[in-house]
Amino acid sequence: MKILERPSLKSLNTFGVEASAGLLLTIETEEDLLSLPALDPYRDFVLGGGSNVLFTSDVPGTVFLNRITGKEIISEHDGYAQLEVGAGENWHQLVRWSLDQGLSGLENLSLIPGLTGAAPIQNIGAYGVELSSVLELVTAWDWQNSTWVTFNRDECLFGYRDSLFKSVNTGRYFITSIRLQLNRQFKPQLDYAGLQDSLSSMGIDQPGAKQVSDTVIRMRQQKLPDPAVTGNAGSFFKNPVVSMDEAELLRSRYPGLPTWPAGADRAKLSAAWMIDRCGWKDFQENGAAVSSQHALVLVNQGQASGQHILELARKITDSVAQEFGVALEPEPKIYKGPDSF
Ligand code: FAD
Ligand code: NAP
Repeated sequence: MKILERPSLKSLNTFGVEASAGLLLTIETEEDLLSLPALDPYRDFVLGGGSNVLFTSDVPGTVFLNRITGKEIISEHDGYAQLEVGAGENWHQLVRWSLDQGLSGLENLSLIPGLTGAAPIQNIGAYGVELSSVLELVTAWDWQNSTWVTFNRDECLFGYRDSLFKSVNTGRYFITSIRLQLNRQFKPQLDYAGLQDSLSSMGIDQPGAKQVSDTVIRMRQQKLPDPAVTGNAGSFFKNPVVSMDEAELLRSRYPGLPTWPAGADRAKLSAAWMIDRCGWKDFQENGAAVSSQHALVLVNQGQASGQHILELARKITDSVAQEFGVALEPEPKIYKGPDSF
């Protein structure tokens, strides 16, 4: 376990905003956790790759940096393989490694930044696939009871960019590994808009899993700002899910508003469309801006603080609520400091 006093968190969050912590503890083994006092959710914070957080305050306590690595195929039967993966493994490298093992299921989730331990937190999803479709088990350290716990898929309470760990019990569990079930036989999932077309445009009609992964990577590189170049945390807002009736009403007022089915009697609305419609395209203030590439992505043009980015997010949220009567919710975890709880 490595210990650093008064570290800057700037290089540890993809927004690249300045914040400091009292202490930085790098957790490299499960044993490291056993000797630690319980995390105080007001003063401490668990950090993976920092690609889904916004620091609007310093962290007065300890930042626990998850760096527990290791990945192996632990069993194989009936055409499926079970993988146990340390929470500190880089997610995208895991995707590519699994493809090299001849396993499929993760290809649509290629190039999502961050570490494996954070993947269950918001049930990462992209191109029509969510982590929940392949996840079998989450193992975590329960700070509250100082004990190891496991959660099967149902117990994780996965939803759209949501889980038990994000909404109900924020900060209570330190995820140390996850178990995935992947397929030896490739079953392509190409329904998501643009994916099939992109493959077809390259003359690929019956793609392999690696070709799907390569295509997702290419599409993402074309559409999303690279956090290594421009600070961002991907989509800042979730697409709101509303009742079918509300969606119908909104569609009658705004015929161009894209909506998609989202479970029984619910519909998902395009947050990007509503933000564009409110005139936010290319808006910038204090170095915080709406990405010109993607309306859902807020970027740090270099000098923005977490507060500046949060202020912009609030203005956008207010304007969408006023125009559409719809509440936008932020997707990243916003750390506001001990006084804000
Ligand atoms: P962090 O940002 O470090 O942490 C996120 C949250 O999880 C925090 O609340 C943190 O406390 C908690 N946490 C992290 N690790 C642990 C742990 N081991 N135990 C307990 N709690 C933990 N997300 C998607 O779903 N789909 C996408 O397609 C997608 N695309 C993105 C594209 C870009 C350019 C960027 C910058 C982000 C994107 N994201 C996407 C968001 C982000 O990459 C994912 O949510 C990712 O899983 C976050 O991983 P991380 O390790 O960086 O988590
Ligand atoms: P896109 O394809 O331009 O679509 C924009 C939005 O429309 C997405 O948010 C997506 O919702 C929704 N959408 C489009 N087609 C859909 C369909 N057939 N069914 C349901 N919803 C549909 O999206 P993009 O921004 O380039 O991203 C492509 C994929 O990567 C999306 O799945 C997106 O979620 C994911 N992504 C996520 C983040 C993040 O930080 N969370 C960042 C970048 C990309 P969904 O978001 O529900 O898919």
